[in-house]
Amino acid sequence: MSDRYQLPREEMVATQIRARGILDERVLAAMRQVPRHLFVDGPLRAQAYDDYPLPIAGGQTISQPYIVACMTELLRLTGDETVLEIGTGSGYQAAVLSRLCRQVYSLERLNSLLTQARKVFVTLAYFNITARLADGTLGWPEAAPFDAIIVTAGGPEIPPPLISQLADPGRLVMPVGDQNQQQLCLLSKRDGRITTEILAGVRFVDLIGTHGWKN
Ligand code: SAH
Repeated sequence: MSDRYQLPREEMVATQIRARGILDERVLAAMRQVPRHLFVDGPLRAQAYDDYPLPIAGGQTISQPYIVACMTELLRLTGDETVLEIGTGSGYQAAVLSRLCRQVYSLERLNSLLTQARKVFVTLAYFNITARLADGTLGWPEAAPFDAIIVTAGGPEIPPPLISQLADPGRLVMPVGDQNQQQLCLLSKRDGRITTEILAGVRFVDLIGTHGWKN
């Protein structure tokens, strides 16, 4: 899509994402394509392509572009996958995923955010995203199994229902830790075996729910 933010968007991908080692060309192309400014409030649009997270409604945040790229790359999507996201928020991460797989399911616990994100998906005609209001720590059993799962809020542990709803083979990324700081964790399921890897220190808003923090 060509728009007035195309140049800042290309610069964002070149200097914040490719320069920091994200090499998956499909991820880079998706991030050059998705108009991030449409996922933030009007007054913040000019900052949409800057190198930091931004506030969205409900005291939540849209992640820094590099973190979105990094978590997306970890899922190793090739185009055919069904992906579950926990924490729709602005909808930006779901939008990026939707360019890279067959179908995105996304769960959000705050109705105001969900409603706004859905509007943007329609505006952009991103019809392969289905988003609904629910406690994402319980997953989306009717739509399972998922080839990839991404949790975009930080919790004390990887919610067990998400591990059971992950396909084999499948990959799950999530920030795990306390409410101030987390480690980005990658869980892989293959041949019935589960392995986890700790990747980097990160800071996300709280995952609130049955298998997250209590409200
Ligand atoms: N992926 C989002 C990031 C939003 S911040 C984006 O691209 O903008 C994390 C989001 O997780 C918040 O909107 C918060 O309301 C939501 N959240 C927290 N706990 C949740 C839960 N148990 N189920 C679903 N959403 C949750």
